[in-house]
Amino acid sequence: MSAIKLLPDGLINQIAAGEVIERPASVLKELLENAIDAGATDIAVTIAQGGLKQIRVSDNGVGIPSDELSLALMRHATSKISNQADLQKITSLGFRGEGLASIASVSYLQLISQRSGAQHAWQIQAEGGQISQPEPASHPAGTTLEIRDLFFNLPARRKFLKTEATEFAHCEEVFRRMALSHAGIAFTLRHNGKLRSHWQAMAVERRVREVLSEEFAQAATWVSECSAGIGLQGMLALPAYSRATRDMQYFFVNGRFVRDKLIAHALREAYRDVLHLDRHPAFVLHLDVDPESVDVNVHPTKTEVRFRDGRAVHQFIYHGVSKALASPRSAIKAQQT
Ligand code: ADP
Ligand code: MG
Repeated sequence: MSAIKLLPDGLINQIAAGEVIERPASVLKELLENAIDAGATDIAVTIAQGGLKQIRVSDNGVGIPSDELSLALMRHATSKISNQADLQKITSLGFRGEGLASIASVSYLQLISQRSGAQHAWQIQAEGGQISQPEPASHPAGTTLEIRDLFFNLPARRKFLKTEATEFAHCEEVFRRMALSHAGIAFTLRHNGKLRSHWQAMAVERRVREVLSEEFAQAATWVSECSAGIGLQGMLALPAYSRATRDMQYFFVNGRFVRDKLIAHALREAYRDVLHLDRHPAFVLHLDVDPESVDVNVHPTKTEVRFRDGRAVHQFIYHGVSKALASPRSAIKAQQT
């Protein structure tokens, strides 16, 4: 063993990227989160070759000032929190300040941004983490991030990527989650030059119908529960529309897609008497809780959460879902009245 030394920043970023950036879909998730946090109302995604070649996300959000462009690509640099108190009540999707630094360390990245009110846009590039000087550019108000050749400098990692079709399917799933949880934002997705999805800003019920299918919406009952500062809203399919896999299970906590054991258990319990053991329910549910009562800083990918009062959350979900299943209200009618 040689002497202990502090690793260079580039290597530290690549190690962090190992946790956060697994495949093109992880890049897309980070970029979409940033666009949403920037207050965008219109987000356009362009993907080439399943995201292995290119992922571009353009938004009409607040933009980044020219003197902060290179900071945006640096580790632990964020505009979303500034102190420990902020960390206890996260209201944005991002907050760790490592998404862009991680992506930049394992790809070719171009960032162009126009802050509203600024004279013109600015751009910077990064190649495997080496950041260039900002240069003037042209771009409407908002930001475009373009990522090319993910893992070009980590051949071992690149080898683990699957086919173009599989990687695109993962990207599409990430895109769908964001579209489902943010119906008020317009989303466009193109792959290899073809338009795959285009949704205007719309009501939640209609977005669910367009993203998941008319059949799901027809089979769904509406959930809307609120008590003691917790809210549960959304649509869940009645048992007749059960699935062979867990492919239609979307649960969001304060707008963030999560996979959580406690939540999964509450849902399973609620469906237990009405669903055969080898069938899976379909649902899109939004849980809204006080940001101070949930910790999202559990894992770098932020898909796990820890509730301060897990029992109360479990009970609330169980009762809300049981009640909805026991006295179904057509999701479509509920929306029309
Ligand atoms: P985090 O999202 O955790 O703050 P990131 O590395 O993803 O960390 O982004 C760093 C910072 O760059 C963000 O805090 C934000 O200020 C800025 N940023 C990134 N993407 C955008 C965007 N699309 N629009 C405006 N600002 C952005
Ligand atoms: Mg981010």
